[in-house]
Amino acid sequence: MMSTQPLYEGKAKRLYLTDDAQALRMEFKDEATAFNAEKKADFANKGKLNKAITLLMYQMLHEKNVETHLIEDIDEINLLVKKVDILMVEVIVRNVAAGGFSKRLGVAEGTPFKKPIVEFSYKSDALGDPLINDDYARELGLATPQECQILKDKALIINEVMIDFFLKCGLKLVDFKIEFGKLADGTIVLADEISPDTCRLWDIETGKKMDKDRFRQDLGDVMEGYAEVLERISKQA
Ligand code: ADP
Ligand code: UDP
Repeated sequence: MMSTQPLYEGKAKRLYLTDDAQALRMEFKDEATAFNAEKKADFANKGKLNKAITLLMYQMLHEKNVETHLIEDIDEINLLVKKVDILMVEVIVRNVAAGGFSKRLGVAEGTPFKKPIVEFSYKSDALGDPLINDDYARELGLATPQECQILKDKALIINEVMIDFFLKCGLKLVDFKIEFGKLADGTIVLADEISPDTCRLWDIETGKKMDKDRFRQDLGDVMEGYAEVLERISKQA
């Protein structure tokens, strides 16, 4: 089961083949990157924290009938997942203005939206994950119009479920990025991870940032933020 040569090594995780051709081992690394990998650092325990948070989030989503690639927990930094063909479209959902949205459009961070915004970006490190729309996705062969609609519908359901869950943990879900993949039978399921690397989470009372913005903005205590997210969601799960 524990093969040593990764099938793929990304910025935050490694994927390994397993005895089962339909399953992969997903290992969470301690490395963090931001701004398209221009900024890099190692954080002790980040892999453990993000694995544990992703596991709890996927278990919670399964209870709410959201299908994901999770098969089972393996150990402190590894999950067993269904092998999927990742759609090369990153789906971002925003409830409150922050990050790239605030920068691009000059909207103050913290401005709430009346309804969530769903946006797509082309999953390409070489191009810096550029913002795209359904027509771009169709012409680039990334997803059909029907698939784009499925991604948006699923992303909005996942947003509703996660807003409620994080609220119970005293956290505001500002925005997040998710990825989807196709199973062998063509079913589209949620894949990759859900963690403070991929979600903006603010304390509901104080507005304190508990996510990767602590690293992006040099706010310090980065892993303390992640550990607090894990502690809060563990109590709620
Ligand atoms: P990146 O590739 O952006 O550096 P990671 O370091 O997180 O990101 O690498 C994990 C890679 O694994 C991502 O490219 C992601 O799309 C891919 N992936 C996630 N879940 C699955 C899965 N179930 N099957 C195949 N690939 C997956
Ligand atoms: N995000 C991510 N990976 C990416 C880009 C964005 O996980 O490659 C997440 C990010 O953590 C935030 C949300 O998606 O929760 C929206 O990110 P934004 O577009 O504001 O990105 P930024 O410009 O801040 O990198």
